[in-house]
Amino acid sequence: MVPPMPEHQTVGLEAKSPFELRVHLGDDVPEQTVREALATGDMGFVHSFTTGSAVDGPGVRVVAWTTGCMWRCRYCHNPDTWTLSNGMPVSVARAAEEVGKYREGLKVMKGGFTLSGGDPLMQHRFAAKLLAAVRKMGIHTTIETNGYYGDKLSDAELDTIDLVMLGIKTWDPVRHQALTGMDVTPTLDFARRLAARRQPIWIRFVLVPGLTDDMDDLARTAEFAAALGNVEQVEVLPFHQMGKFKWERLGLSYSLTDVQPPTAEATERACEVLRRAGLKAH
Ligand code: SF4
Repeated sequence: MVPPMPEHQTVGLEAKSPFELRVHLGDDVPEQTVREALATGDMGFVHSFTTGSAVDGPGVRVVAWTTGCMWRCRYCHNPDTWTLSNGMPVSVARAAEEVGKYREGLKVMKGGFTLSGGDPLMQHRFAAKLLAAVRKMGIHTTIETNGYYGDKLSDAELDTIDLVMLGIKTWDPVRHQALTGMDVTPTLDFARRLAARRQPIWIRFVLVPGLTDDMDDLARTAEFAAALGNVEQVEVLPFHQMGKFKWERLGLSYSLTDVQPPTAEATERACEVLRRAGLKAH
């Protein structure tokens, strides 16, 4: 059992947006407590909660942004979520209670709860417990993940998730390694497992000029996604510079300083490539 931690005194759980820079909120949590939290999932580390999102799943969403991510995507717009201890410690009961406050409104607005990050499966025990608790309240559940730790969830735990929003950057192992620093295989394996379960996926694809805008590569990724049979839609997200200040403030080396967002025409071209493979894309 994880000992109760005091709520953070100076920063509230709710943020106006995940673009708020948040660091060191869990620095005072003893290492042993962190280990126990990761093992049991009774406590998690959360960057923030946001409400009223219309872009993180169906309808209007309450979103919990967890901390911790093993990937180092060159275009990540929330690098403050990479480090687990940047998040504030929150018990799973408190997190579920926070979501529960919005239960009736979420139902009326045909929305639900989205667990995002960082990568929420870095804290897979916390994710599993929180999603189960929220689902038990009759709230639609979505997880937004890079899928790397998808194998850490049992089938029964996957049953508590209505929708998986999967960030697929490319099917190509070499490109993937260069973009994220990590192997693509676990993500593709997770997508195949969800397909075998006929569990709905929405794919998120960030279009970055000069990095992910090779249309031949996208066509191969689209072929992979279309063959799964459970991809309901692909969202093409134009790269932006809203996270640039975080890289600078965190003292991280940012390689995309001079990259401009893609034009509307380029974004539409990417959507067309996806549609040609038989996918719904916007
Ligand atoms: S997987 Fe997401 S949170 Fe992790 S580095 Fe990539 S964009 Fe950032």
